[in-house]
This record gives sequence, C-alpha cells and structure tokens, in this order.
Amino acid sequence: MTDTLHGRCHCGAVTFEVRLADGIETARRCTCSLCAKRGAVAVSAPLDGITYLTGEDKLTLYQFGTMTAEHYFCSVCGIYTHHKRRSNPNQIGVNLACLDGHTPFLPEVVVTDGVNHPTDTGAWRNVGRLLFVPEGDAT
Ligand SMILES: [Zn+2]
Repeated sequence: MTDTLHGRCHCGAVTFEVRLADGIETARRCTCSLCAKRGAVAVSAPLDGITYLTGEDKLTLYQFGTMTAEHYFCSVCGIYTHHKRRSNPNQIGVNLACLDGHTPFLPEVVVTDGVNHPTDTGAWRNVGRLLFVPEGDAT
C-alpha cells in the first residue's frame, strides 16, 4: 500500500507530498517528553517518501536529548509537520493531522512507550490505546 498524500502545516507556508509506509495503519501517539507536549498522532513514511512543494525554507529544526531525531515545525504557524526518527533513521513520522482528508480523531490510536525508548530498550512496547467515542455513542 503506497498512497501518496498531500500535506500542509496550518498556515499553508509548508506543503508537501508524502508516500506513507502503510497508509494510516501505523498511526501512533507516543509518551516521550516531546510527544506528550505536542500531542500529535504520527504515521510512518520512508525517509525518501516526503517531497516538499513549498516552504522547505520555513521549516525549523528542533532536537533534544541524544540529538538524533530531527523534529520539524513550521516557523510561521508552529505546527509540527514531520520528524526523522531516532528509532529508525530510515523512516520519518508525519503529523497525521497535516494530511489532507485525514483526522487525528481516529476511533482508536495505539500509544507507544517513548519514555523507555526502543533505541535504548531494543524493542517497541505499547503502553495503551486512546479511544475516541463520538458524542451520543457513549453508554
Ligand atoms: Zn505554517
């Protein structure tokens, strides 16, 4: 499955096309100190899967900790667009909410254990799932 999707930050300065690794099946939240604050749902894409259409020069790089991962944000509107992973340098994570036609409010999103990072522990571990229950369906 190789759908190419169109994406943009909030203000539209940064636009891109991205070829996902496995559609939105890879949608994840993460417990690491950065993800906990930014709150985005990320989907996986190969490192060469992203093509900038506009605004590559508007992206700001943020790094912390081991300085391995590369977290990119629009310098105009502040929205996280994607990051080059520490856990898999051949992959990027892409902000699902930036992709046209997609919403981060999926029925269920897996939460991975970014606090105990797979690069340190040797394996990905999930800590739970976040459920979205539409109003009216709650029992
Ligand atoms: Zn922007």
